[in-house]
Amino acid sequence: MATKSLDVFVIGAGVIGLSTAICALEAGFRVTIFAETFPGDKKSIKYTSCWAAANHVSVAATNELLHQLERETLPIFLSLLKEDPLVPVMIRPHKSYSQVYGAKEQEQADHLARCYTDLRVMDPSELPEGVAHGALFSTLCIDVPRYLPYLMDRFMTAGGHAFRVTLPSLSALLSEKNRPALEPFPPTSGPTQPSIFPAAVVNCTGIGALSMGDVMDTNLYPTRGEVLIIRAPWIRDGVALLYSDGHLTYTIPRQSGDVILGGTFQPNDWHPTSRPETVKLIKERGIAAQPELLPADKREAKNIDDLDVVEECVGLRPTRKGGLRIETSFLAVGDKTFPVVHNYGHGGAGYQSSWGSANAAVELLKSVV
Ligand SMILES: Cc1cc2nc3c(=O)[nH]c(=O)nc-3n(C[C@H](O)[C@H](O)[C@H](O)COP(=O)(O)OP(=O)(O)OC[C@H]3O[C@@H](n4cnc5c(N)ncnc54)[C@H](O)[C@@H]3O)c2cc1C
Repeated sequence: MATKSLDVFVIGAGVIGLSTAICALEAGFRVTIFAETFPGDKKSIKYTSCWAAANHVSVAATNELLHQLERETLPIFLSLLKEDPLVPVMIRPHKSYSQVYGAKEQEQADHLARCYTDLRVMDPSELPEGVAHGALFSTLCIDVPRYLPYLMDRFMTAGGHAFRVTLPSLSALLSEKNRPALEPFPPTSGPTQPSIFPAAVVNCTGIGALSMGDVMDTNLYPTRGEVLIIRAPWIRDGVALLYSDGHLTYTIPRQSGDVILGGTFQPNDWHPTSRPETVKLIKERGIAAQPELLPADKREAKNIDDLDVVEECVGLRPTRKGGLRIETSFLAVGDKTFPVVHNYGHGGAGYQSSWGSANAAVELLKSVV
């Protein structure tokens, strides 16, 4: 099918919008991104991608679609790394620990063993005190503050265009009369106005799909994630420790030498800034799980104030009852009808399922235009 002359509008410039826009360009579409927030902007609670940790550790034991998309995404990241060593992604050992090991934990452990081919169950003699089960495997750590600009550059270099706009609805963008003002992004780039009628729209608005007119998906809700960025360039391994009270401590090292220390998973909690009691808990549990987060000369004292905290972060994972949405609907605006491919609701797995989701959305695009 010839897609060269067909315009596609992608709404959203998070990891899902950018990955989808790149795949659509590579499939031969002419692609324009429209978004309120872009990589490099001041961090915003409305832009989840800038707050992500982010690594590839599957949590999709019971969600077959997400599992498949995560599985497809992993080798794409690996081949990106092979082709371009400057891609801000690295492979690191990851230790997955659990203080309790019941049926649920076993299901997750079995799932991880299916996902990561080098996974090895650790011998009890290797486990830290109080840990009932541990597994060691290699996985990807994505340096988010570098990876998002990398995606944006890749999109622009491949001939994409972008506009900054806050949309009250998808139809506002498709209406000749009521379209809000569009600001080229970056300000000096691209045509002054995109063509008014695209062949299709791709909706990658994340948690924004809850309030976006024509979508208003009430199955969406935020899962609040509070994490800390710690300066600790000596850390090589990521660790996840599930405490017996349900708290999950996790660390994710970045290329930059920063380490993410998490965190919380708080459904329906919209609070946009950190809470002091949560920060304290994250620090205490973090030091207990991985004492090496502290500088070598300060480990013995185990004082949480000795952690070199760079930033306290809060992001809202776009979680969806029933799982992520990748499907097509049709939108009538005036006397025209536009196919809309939805690609949102990735919860805590948007990075690790990004390329699989992008390819699935582009397959839908090809089938509807
Ligand atoms: C603490 C934390 C840790 C995480 N760790 C991981 C991890 O380890 N691995 C992993 O895979 N994932 C992780 N995630 C999840 C991941 O960050 C999300 O799944 C992902 O960022 C969602 O991306 P998105 O593109 O769908 O949404 P967003 O990044 O929120 O992007 C939405 C885009 O749509 C635009 N938009 C929305 N509404 C409108 C509107 N009305 N008009 C114009 N533009 C609009 C926004 O401006 C933005 O550009 C984590 C998240 C958090 C918070």
